[in-house]
Amino acid sequence: MCRTQETLDHEAVFAAKSNAVGVPTEVLSAEEVRRRDPGIDYAIAGAVMFTKDAHLDPRELVKLLTSEIQRLGGRIVWNAEVTGWRREGARLKAAVTTAGEFAGETFVLAAGAWSPAAAEALGLRIPMQAGKGYSMRLPHPVQRPKYCSLLMEARVAVTPMGDALTVGGTMEITGNDLSVNPARVRGIRKAFVKYYPAFKESDFTELPVWSGLRPCPPDGMPYLGRTRSAENLVVATGHSMMGLSLGPVTGEIVAQLVCGEATSVALSEVDPDRHA
Ligand SMILES: Cc1cc2nc3c(=O)[nH]c(=O)nc-3n(C[C@H](O)[C@H](O)[C@H](O)COP(=O)(O)OP(=O)(O)OC[C@H]3O[C@@H](n4cnc5c(N)ncnc54)[C@H](O)[C@@H]3O)c2cc1C
Repeated sequence: MCRTQETLDHEAVFAAKSNAVGVPTEVLSAEEVRRRDPGIDYAIAGAVMFTKDAHLDPRELVKLLTSEIQRLGGRIVWNAEVTGWRREGARLKAAVTTAGEFAGETFVLAAGAWSPAAAEALGLRIPMQAGKGYSMRLPHPVQRPKYCSLLMEARVAVTPMGDALTVGGTMEITGNDLSVNPARVRGIRKAFVKYYPAFKESDFTELPVWSGLRPCPPDGMPYLGRTRSAENLVVATGHSMMGLSLGPVTGEIVAQLVCGEATSVALSEVDPDRHA
């Protein structure tokens, strides 16, 4: 969604490029957005619709993944922090955790913004900054837009989740600190009500604020693949702002690596050893 015609024109150029690579888009006037989502007040110049985009509720996804892992015979050990590794020569024998040691044939390092610390103990250098973001869930929104939106000038994301509406954004570089910066949260609310004028900033009063850390490598590319630092380690981290979207393909590639199969895409651009 774009508040100004200037931003919409800029996004239309991007939309044309997107169409050319097979990701379909439509450039919509404000009237057309209102026609497609009647009953919602939009204070915008227009929008680019990514017609094949989808969205999900991350809490439901994690619940589903948890039960699916358990159904398939996997065991999840909660609150076990990896503090080190036991190795024999080039191979890892066990992950050393606050809940004891866990031996294994193959290990996958996927610790998000905390991955560099876990990697360092192996002599593996995967530089990363944590990019903190916030989100708030309006349980009873005054209006419930049909579409997810990215408010382009404000860099805020709005997502319908069941009956609720989630509003989030911000990229704050403050180390691995999850504390909430009220000024940043105010910025998200202020921006949101400009695009959706039926809402008021006070709608957010008393709502809990969730904070999360995006794992951001300096070159914007994930770390995915095997590494020279240990024969039986697979690294899968550093997905920045796209970790959910890239989760399925990452999982598929990790499975291929663990099973010793050829990967479905070449991994040279995302080599975990590229900064070694
Ligand atoms: C506000 C916000 C909005 C976002 N919106 C989107 C979006 O719309 N689409 C999208 O694709 N992505 C989005 N992202 C990004 C996405 O959340 C991340 O890219 C994704 O979570 C990264 O997944 P991950 O599994 O690598 O890391 P995480 O989700 O951070 O998971 C890492 C896990 O490892 C655990 N861990 C860390 N260290 C250790 C240790 N030593 N021992 C044991 N466990 C450890 C952590 O506790 C954590 O559970 C958003 C992020 C934020 C903050």
